[in-house]
Amino acid sequence: MFSETISTPIVQIHDDAIEKYGVDLYIKREDLTDPYISGNKFRKLKYNLIHARKKGFDTILTFGGAYSNHIHAVAYAGFKYNFKTIGIIRGEETLPLNPTLDDASSFGMDFLYISRTDYRNKHNPIFINNLKEKFGDFYLIPEGGSNALAVKGCTEILDSVTQPFDHVCCACGTGGTIAGMIAGLEGLKKKWGFPALKNGGFLKKDIAKLIFDYNSKSYSNWDLVTDYHFGGYAKYNMQLINFINRFKELNDIQLDPIYTGKMLFGIYDLIKTEFFKPGEKVLVIHTGGLQGISGFNKRFGYLIR
Ligand SMILES: *Cc1c(COP(=O)(O)O)cnc(C)c1O
Repeated sequence: MFSETISTPIVQIHDDAIEKYGVDLYIKREDLTDPYISGNKFRKLKYNLIHARKKGFDTILTFGGAYSNHIHAVAYAGFKYNFKTIGIIRGEETLPLNPTLDDASSFGMDFLYISRTDYRNKHNPIFINNLKEKFGDFYLIPEGGSNALAVKGCTEILDSVTQPFDHVCCACGTGGTIAGMIAGLEGLKKKWGFPALKNGGFLKKDIAKLIFDYNSKSYSNWDLVTDYHFGGYAKYNMQLINFINRFKELNDIQLDPIYTGKMLFGIYDLIKTEFFKPGEKVLVIHTGGLQGISGFNKRFGYLIR
């Protein structure tokens, strides 16, 4: 069942491009949690699913964009653990379905497409009530899956890590994942979040709130690095693509172009500019997201090898 404890391996990155700066770089392979619910989305769903089951819900409803890793993960979790799933998708239906939604549909998820304007109502109780009239009762998981139970799940990411690290780095969307790691380590080590969105500074407040909702505490040993969004969510350039392809060739580790590729590009930069100091140990969390690559490649021309 989903209550099992998962521990994923940590591997060291060896790369001539950064070796001479003397920073020890390690990556925690959260992308290996499960072939379908890869990475942080598995961690974020775990306690939500346990709670939903305990409360007797048979349906889970959530929100996301058409390429969302979260939508994909919820659909698969529903299939695997026997929940009905409903995805409220931002924007118009396009057929044939893109690879993300095609998978989600084959896992049994039903979709409701809503306009970008309506999508902004996703927290409005009247809007949620209308959805209940339409679909019957459901357990609601917010966009990106971030709530206090998700934070709880993400505290477990670093549970099995016993090696001494100076820094922990993680890509951020809604911030639930890094919130869990900050809370889980109780003020130890420095945590750096890399927002995938432009002007990601707003996330500081969201992350602090997610932590507080979970354990009523606040911490000061973390910050955001907001410079590596490459123009915004799902924007890219060939420098990023080449970095991802080279990284895979060298280390046999696939990065995704939305989150982990941008973060690691940034970390290489921060090593080269000695933001991370010689002799320091940096642990990077590979949060997965690999399902998105086939959709990205289809849209933009098979850039990622
Ligand atoms: C969703 C996602 C993130 C962001 O997680 P948050 O908890 O929303 O910050 C990071 N990396 C990948 C690969 C993701 O799919």
